[in-house]
Amino acid sequence: MATLLAFHAHPDDEVLLTGGTLARAADEGHRVIVVVATDGVMKSVAEGGTTRMNELRAAAAVLGVARVEHLGYADSGHGKDLYPDPPDRMRFVRASTEEAAARLAAILREEQVDLLLSYDPNGGYGHRDHVKVHEVGRRAAALAKAYSPGKAITHRIDVRRYAGQKQRALAAHHSQISGDGRLSAVARVLVRLPAPVFGRLLGREWYVEAK
Ligand SMILES: [Zn+2]
Repeated sequence: MATLLAFHAHPDDEVLLTGGTLARAADEGHRVIVVVATDGVMKSVAEGGTTRMNELRAAAAVLGVARVEHLGYADSGHGKDLYPDPPDRMRFVRASTEEAAARLAAILREEQVDLLLSYDPNGGYGHRDHVKVHEVGRRAAALAKAYSPGKAITHRIDVRRYAGQKQRALAAHHSQISGDGRLSAVARVLVRLPAPVFGRLLGREWYVEAK
């Protein structure tokens, strides 16, 4: 059995980008860990609360994830402007890559992680925190010598069987689904779709091996 760690920028990325793969890996008996760089909150913890981390834990439980960790950074936001740091912590994009990678590498070593799932150089869609996940993930893998892009995981994962779980995990992110942004509107549509239709849309996940 292998230990797999999915490194993500924000709560809800774990479902949207890797939910089916994580559910499948857990179902097949592997130890699955999710680490988020940020808690998805732009404000201080005192002001922004812990709702999104709680939603992440609920979603992780649906997917069969054994452990959830937060590297301790604040969300950097995706608008044009990068706001100043909240008083209690740094925005992820401003963090030293070396320091953030050391935090992640500590977990990779402690868990003897076999496979690290991270993002491509564009971070999937260019969000500054996602691009940073790519840099930090690559560096942490080098520090911990953990990256063994796997035999167990192929590059194109059919997760249609896990579509129901992925959909329930997405539904656990209440605050995102009830928001008024465009992504929230999309998420609302997704959680209401009949499971087979959801599976056809989000029933495949892709990975590119990092060499
Ligand atoms: Zn994200």
